[in-house]
Amino acid sequence: MKRIVVLGAGYAGLRAAKELVNLKAEAEIILINKNDYHYESTQLHEVAVGTKNPNDITFKIRDIISPKIKFIQDEVTKIDRSHKKVVLKNSEAVSYDFLVNALGFESETFGIKGAEEFGLAIVDVKSALIAKKHLEDTLARYASSQDENDLHIIVCGAGFTSIEYLGELVHRLPELIKRFDLPKDKIKIYCIEAGSKVLPMLDDHLAEYAVNYLKSHGVELYTATKITELTKNSVISDDKVYEANTIIWTVGVKGSHVMAESGYDQKRNRLLVNTDLSSPDDPNEFVIGDVSAVPGPSGRPYPTTGQISIAQADAAAENIIAKLKGQATKSFSYKSLGTVCSLGPSNGVAELSMMGHWKVKGHLAAPLKRIVNDRSVLELSNFTTMLSSK
Ligand SMILES: Cc1cc2nc3c(=O)[nH]c(=O)nc-3n(C[C@H](O)[C@H](O)[C@H](O)COP(=O)(O)OP(=O)(O)OC[C@H]3O[C@@H](n4cnc5c(N)ncnc54)[C@H](O)[C@@H]3O)c2cc1C
Repeated sequence: MKRIVVLGAGYAGLRAAKELVNLKAEAEIILINKNDYHYESTQLHEVAVGTKNPNDITFKIRDIISPKIKFIQDEVTKIDRSHKKVVLKNSEAVSYDFLVNALGFESETFGIKGAEEFGLAIVDVKSALIAKKHLEDTLARYASSQDENDLHIIVCGAGFTSIEYLGELVHRLPELIKRFDLPKDKIKIYCIEAGSKVLPMLDDHLAEYAVNYLKSHGVELYTATKITELTKNSVISDDKVYEANTIIWTVGVKGSHVMAESGYDQKRNRLLVNTDLSSPDDPNEFVIGDVSAVPGPSGRPYPTTGQISIAQADAAAENIIAKLKGQATKSFSYKSLGTVCSLGPSNGVAELSMMGHWKVKGHLAAPLKRIVNDRSVLELSNFTTMLSSK
């Protein structure tokens, strides 16, 4: 019997493993993930602010996968592609006939000095909890330190994760002020972005709404401000130094470092895949989710999202089944259902492509993140159903 090994239990890997079972793959299916749980990465900013607990966004993998899938909890250190083996940190290497590489995203520093050391990234449950603890400890410390930098928070970047973090933060702030008895007028929240626009992937009016919402809640936004260095308590740009003892680093993401270490011809740890999502070097290896780059109609790769990861997983599973049956694979095609950026639990902006093109802002947009994710990520169903076998 052939063996299919799926790496990573994020949206892409879990969904691919599930779909292989649903499509009745005549093969052994092995899923490898470093934790024994899956996390909903689209809600990590809420854990980082402290409005959600890890329990709210995590699921034990063994509870949500089919018994037909063998689960190995271990860390992939390298893919030995010439010998078709996955090298693991704590156990023996696992060989494969087909591989689904869905190892996901990591924080990108763009080589900026101090970013890795002093910037608090939000890329998994562990980093989100570190960011939360740092925020709370630093605000709490003000009572004894009287250091105003303990009351200053800088968010680097103004893409989705940064803006969603800020929206959630300003929502929680009144509670934090009360809890730690903080002087409200001394709190400063800065958002620093190199580009000229906040939320550049959204319509101008929607981006402007998000900017005005955050400004009305006390956030100072600085666009066209290139960050050159981070220190323990400052963000340095070309012409100014911004001081804060909490620095959130949400400037961008890249694919897993395992990509470079495994010798893929990658850019920022993402592999430009064939139209059927296979690797240019091996037709039996499929690379999906945030470790892949899939050219869209314009020739430029689609943005990496949970939504496209799920669509890729379905397509890769179908193509593996086709190969097992000796049939031709199909090209991947994708239509985004839209984009939603939350601004806390009861506000947001959204551009939707479902039954027409819709631009939504304010309270009406709030539930849409959930609905779009329900449509795309959760498939109008609850999470366990999405992952269960038909
Ligand atoms: C705050 C935030 C909000 C977001 N909101 C949205 C949204 O609203 N809509 C949307 O579509 N997208 C959203 N995204 C983007 C989306 O989360 C990602 O595109 C998506 O998670 C990619 O899925 P993935 O399965 O490729 O990777 P990941 O989610 O990164 O999953 C990879 C999995 O592999 C595991 N893994 C990693 N390395 C190893 C290793 N070496 N060995 C073993 N296991 C390993 C990880 O633990 C993880 O379980 C958001 C992202 C963030 C950070």
